[in-house]
Amino acid sequence: MTVTRRPLIAGNWKMNGLLTDGLALASELARRVEDAAAPAFDLLVCPPFTLISRVGVALAGNAIALGGQDCHAAEAGAHTGDISAAMLADSGCTHVIVGHSERRADHAESDAQVRTKAAAARAAGLVAVICIGETESQRDDGETNAVVARQLAASLPDGATSANTVIAYEPVWAIGTGRTPSIAEVEDVHGRIRGDLGKRLGGDEAARMRLLYGGSVKPDNARELMSLTDVDGALVGGASLKADDFWSIAQSCI
Ligand code: PEP
Repeated sequence: MTVTRRPLIAGNWKMNGLLTDGLALASELARRVEDAAAPAFDLLVCPPFTLISRVGVALAGNAIALGGQDCHAAEAGAHTGDISAAMLADSGCTHVIVGHSERRADHAESDAQVRTKAAAARAAGLVAVICIGETESQRDDGETNAVVARQLAASLPDGATSANTVIAYEPVWAIGTGRTPSIAEVEDVHGRIRGDLGKRLGGDEAARMRLLYGGSVKPDNARELMSLTDVDGALVGGASLKADDFWSIAQSCI
């Protein structure tokens, strides 16, 4: 089956930005999308929780999608400091990142927890952007493929489809470091992910699911990464905080 997957460029703002910065960034991106008329890519911004509602207002009527950076697996209850997927949806989000390596490391999140979060996202009508990727020592030990396959299998909930799930391959050692795998390595890992998805979901769904690459994506390396057959966009951290850089990365999909 030949499928055209529309690229998705997602910005993970992490724990950055006070109101003025966040609104300025969102408004500038909204202006560029409006000027571009019909961009050939989807844009998603994932601000910190404190900014979601206000950024949502700044993006009202614009094609840029809004997402959270994490959600709790439960619908509601005694979970001080946590946010549910339904709360994100209620705040205007359509997406949520789950299983980011910083959550896995800082909060000891397991694949099983990531899976329940992704299922909760689906139940709330959100698209889950499920992050997987090997650490530097796993890479050094030649375990990249095994780790990625294991995380994918254990983090993907039953009922995942190309409509409610996006996979982001993010080598942990490439996040925020300025280092990236070689193009051949990215191509190989993404091809394997697509193959594993095919075994789990069937070839048609696997062919439709968007696979993002994340880890030090910048304007100067984006075009080459985005040109790969099984790379359907990017999850961008640092460079998503500058409108020029984020926009330039998105333009590289065209
Ligand atoms: C990320 O945090 O998901 C990420 C890819 O960060 P960076 O682009 O800064 O490496």
